[in-house]
Amino acid sequence: MAKKILILEDEESIRSFIVFNLRRIGYDTLEAETGEQAYAQFEKNQDIQVALLDVMLPDTDGFEVCRRLRAQSPYLGIIILTAKSQEMDKVNGLIVGADDYITKPFSPAELNARVDALIRRTDTHFPNSDARPGDVIQGPFKLNTPKRQVEKNGVKLKLTSTEYAILKLFMENPGRALSREDILSAVWGRGSESTELKVTDVNIRRLRLKIENDPTNPEFITTVWGYGYQWNV
Ligand code: CA
Repeated sequence: MAKKILILEDEESIRSFIVFNLRRIGYDTLEAETGEQAYAQFEKNQDIQVALLDVMLPDTDGFEVCRRLRAQSPYLGIIILTAKSQEMDKVNGLIVGADDYITKPFSPAELNARVDALIRRTDTHFPNSDARPGDVIQGPFKLNTPKRQVEKNGVKLKLTSTEYAILKLFMENPGRALSREDILSAVWGRGSESTELKVTDVNIRRLRLKIENDPTNPEFITTVWGYGYQWNV
């Protein structure tokens, strides 16, 4: 089971940046825009292992959320997201029980490194601690990141490394429409020339032949017209 991470951040652009990057490395993400939404997520998901908390929120502040969550769970990993102009926030955050802080703006590499480190630190206190962050099971599919393998109904799929990377990206973003540019930059790591977008389409067509029950009528990878593709399981 993928590890659950809560992202409490009221700025949509920052929240989706974090979600996108954490899903790419195999984490399950839950989102909240307000303190109340964060508490509700915790009610529903007792197995959240790490929480990222923004400080300035519409209904409360990240320190208060941190205090309340820490009182409920001594083992939860908590990272405070601070702005550069708010030096004091780091200290305050650590005083009220956060494990770490990240100063905005931050890079995907920094975010991933901080989260991975905290997951490792909190791992012993959570069930399924031997499950790797990369294990994702969805419908008939099982993604094993350390082995770079995907199984469908227990049968290993024969995928090229590019097909594997695309399928992994989809499985980390279930139910989310991904633009062809998103797929291109995540898998190939480059910008979006219109000729290069066709590379995405060709690879998706090939991937469908390998994973769909009926490739002419795809149910797992559906087309979002004029935009891209979506993973449905
Ligand atoms: Ca904010």
